[in-house]
Amino acid sequence: MMPGTSPQRLTVITGPSGVGKGTLVKELLLKHQEIWLSISATTRLPRAGEIDGKDYFFYNLDVFKELVSNQGFLEWAEFAGNLYGTPFAPMREQMEQGKKVLLEIELKGARQIRNTYPEAFQIFLAPPSFEELESRIRGRATDDEEAIQKRLLRAKDELQASNEFNAVVINDSFKDALIQIEGLMGLRD
Ligand code: ADP
Ligand code: 5GP
Repeated sequence: MMPGTSPQRLTVITGPSGVGKGTLVKELLLKHQEIWLSISATTRLPRAGEIDGKDYFFYNLDVFKELVSNQGFLEWAEFAGNLYGTPFAPMREQMEQGKKVLLEIELKGARQIRNTYPEAFQIFLAPPSFEELESRIRGRATDDEEAIQKRLLRAKDELQASNEFNAVVINDSFKDALIQIEGLMGLRD
């Protein structure tokens, strides 16, 4: 095992909207069969091209709240006006099958996991600058202006929390960020 790598079965990746979490996670999944990405539930409406059960489980508020009261989530949180949560049962099953489980979630959820699952290894993905973050969110062209403003406001809070994490990776060069995350997760070609 390399120094600084995580033998843990659960890795959490957090970082402000637009920093590149989704793009990095997609690449990790393509390269490493042993990773299983948790599919979150959300009350947000699907974006163009998003598929229910693949990108997210898109639930209405009543269904989401019922899962909350039945302890169906490892963690859940509100983000930019919508609720998001990690379904508990599928991730437990994948961990039992020996997969490295990866969660891509926002800050409040990551904080909850520090209490409920302290063995998890938590990585914060940071942008090279706030200006670059704004330009990535706008360049992605998936959100309307109101959603962009909410996400940028939230990003300011999130960036201040980076020192709470086990490791901080700056997503400047995509290739370098990917190598660093692979190292932290104990993954090698
Ligand atoms: P998140 O999932 O964190 O909200 P995305 O993965 O959707 O972010 O990335 C936001 C935008 O930034 C996308 O258009 C993506 O192609 C781009 N992006 C991701 N990583 C980099 C990088 N290292 N350099 C430049 N652009 C990037
Ligand atoms: P988006 O709407 O852009 O898909 O996601 C918005 C934010 O919600 C992102 O920061 C993403 O990491 C976070 N998120 C996605 N799924 C979950 C989840 O299950 N729990 C929590 N706490 N956050 C999540």
